[in-house]
Amino acid sequence: MHYPSTRGRAPAASLSDAIAAGLAPDGGLYVPGQLPSIDLAAFDPDGDLAATATTLLAPFFAGDALVDALPAICTEAFTLDTPLRPLARADALLLELFHGPTAAFKDVGARFLAACLCRLRQGQSAPLTILVATSGDTGAAVGAAFHGQPGVRVVILYPDDRVSPRQAHQLGCFGDNVHALRVAGSFDDCQRMVKTALNDARLQREVPLSSANSISLGRLLPQMSYYAHAALGWWHAHGRPLDFIIPTGNLGNAQACLWARAMGLPIGEIRLACNANATLPEFFAGADYRPRDATATLANAMDVGAPSNFERLRWLFHGDDDALRRALRATSIDDATIRATLLRHAREHGEVVCPHTATALAVLEQAPRRDGRAWAVVATAHPAKFELVLEPLLGHSLAVPPALAAMLQRPSHAASMPVDDQAFQQWLRTP
Ligand SMILES: *Cc1c(COP(=O)(O)O)cnc(C)c1O
Repeated sequence: MHYPSTRGRAPAASLSDAIAAGLAPDGGLYVPGQLPSIDLAAFDPDGDLAATATTLLAPFFAGDALVDALPAICTEAFTLDTPLRPLARADALLLELFHGPTAAFKDVGARFLAACLCRLRQGQSAPLTILVATSGDTGAAVGAAFHGQPGVRVVILYPDDRVSPRQAHQLGCFGDNVHALRVAGSFDDCQRMVKTALNDARLQREVPLSSANSISLGRLLPQMSYYAHAALGWWHAHGRPLDFIIPTGNLGNAQACLWARAMGLPIGEIRLACNANATLPEFFAGADYRPRDATATLANAMDVGAPSNFERLRWLFHGDDDALRRALRATSIDDATIRATLLRHAREHGEVVCPHTATALAVLEQAPRRDGRAWAVVATAHPAKFELVLEPLLGHSLAVPPALAAMLQRPSHAASMPVDDQAFQQWLRTP
């Protein structure tokens, strides 16, 4: 399969090249030339997540240099469970995506990308530096996935004072080939510094650079797997498609679900749960697409005013915005509702979720009950990662999952960095 750019002004790339490059040279995003349609009978009903992923992703790897490595890549990347657990509401389930090493769904994409990139780098003499700007979860997932891998160095940039203390500790705890930079600015400053460095051809010649942000196909494609796995399990047990409610920021996770549905997996409705950043809900309600600056909310990993994957969504519908609006729904949930939902579910049902997952629970409360159908609410992170929001609200401390606890016990170090491209690039050049 070949991968054109959404902007159509760059040559189509192989999967390996698209994964290695991240962004297409015309500034667009790489997309599958056509979405393969999948035969449900090809999946082993008793297979685990890695087996489902291998079958699902095979057509995307057809003809690529990585095709023979796909089963091994899936075995390496999909070591975590993604259980569907019952919720108090009888027609609803929680799809828990936070059982990876850094307790957020981003572990899946980061581990898959690492398994691909490390194979692509084999035999190259110069080490590759992977830049990642993060508001919290992405940096930790990418750091954990590449920690100790030969031939790569990871540089994480995060906004000083704008991530939770636990998140900051996690970002600085890796050491070795993973470096954390505490930037005296905002997340947007971090992202701009990364982009400027990536676009600097002279710097690239001295220090080969790549990025691991959420627009990478190497992160997006594997995220289809847990939707496929959950929907297939439900299909085999109940003979019906499963409907999803997805906490959404940059639209990577929801885009993956939409691709899986378009390939013919038994996925019914898809609803997006957004926070007060209402760019998508306004568009889906019929307004023009109007990207803007992000506002800070309790669900901070979704504080996005210009979702980068929107371009892929439009491309999938050939620019027909009305058809796109019929395919999805999106709802904006404000902070007061996030708080009330968190509190109500914890008190009434013992359901303690992270603030992002709470936006999806709030959308569930507005969703209809239909005979024989079920909503899978996607739980994107473990609640213990957001202790500063949850503990004062609930009035008790939260048990930390073992992998996260182990990271919090390691020493942590981050170098400080001004918002200054020269200083950053000098730091990158210094071995
Ligand atoms: C990144 C993130 C999201 C948003 O996912 P997108 O793919 O950017 O839409 C939601 N919840 C958590 C916990 C996240 O880390």
